[in-house]
Amino acid sequence: MVTSNSGSTDQWGFEYFFSPPPVKSLAIVGSKTRFPVRRIYCIGINYPRPPHLLEQAPSLQNLTEGQTIIFDKHRDAIVEDGVNIPYPQGTNNLVHEVELVVAIGTKAVDVDEDFALNHVFGYAVGNDLTRKDLLLTAMTSGGAVDVGKAFDGSAPCGPVHPVSRVGHLNEARMWLTVDGYLRQEGDLKDMLKKPPALISELSHLFHLQPGDLIYTGTPGIPGTVNRNQTMVGGIDGLGTLTNKVI
Ligand code: MN
Repeated sequence: MVTSNSGSTDQWGFEYFFSPPPVKSLAIVGSKTRFPVRRIYCIGINYPRPPHLLEQAPSLQNLTEGQTIIFDKHRDAIVEDGVNIPYPQGTNNLVHEVELVVAIGTKAVDVDEDFALNHVFGYAVGNDLTRKDLLLTAMTSGGAVDVGKAFDGSAPCGPVHPVSRVGHLNEARMWLTVDGYLRQEGDLKDMLKKPPALISELSHLFHLQPGDLIYTGTPGIPGTVNRNQTMVGGIDGLGTLTNKVI
């Protein structure tokens, strides 16, 4: 008979062979309660890009006009503000991408753009960390992007600012520094598809639920980050997100 030393019993009386994974959650600004994370959706190429960046991945040139690039990360990839991130396995090119994160607060299925913002709980600063070498290899060969995007520690995210405190952001400067040097700078107003369009489109493909996060894409030119460097991402009105790679 197989036995476990670390079994646990949940509220329903089920006993597990090992402890279930912990709930991943984010701080909520102005609240003692936490935002439990369910799913992480991410949007690619959502700001104007220099042509040479698109040339890195030939498959991107086959995108149809208006096509949305959607990929996922795992919720246990969340890293909170101030937490160090071990340099990921399997890469020699870790890249930062500062992004607006939309936090969903109510179920959204097949919603129109006009009503989409009603489903937003709040906003946060995120960093869509990328193993760029693995991503480009996958994209060049027509493979899935997961290996480049959905790895341990790949989803740093700051505290969630409720809409009740910050409203809906149409324009705001966003930026990221590495060891104090400015590496990325942009503005939310340049987003190609805004949160209402993204929420509506996602809601026609997936059942959005409270706890879902949407990383909405990064402006400018994402850059490399190495061991012992500290990234600080920020969006005016949403504070900053600091993580050191160790
Ligand atoms: Mn991104």
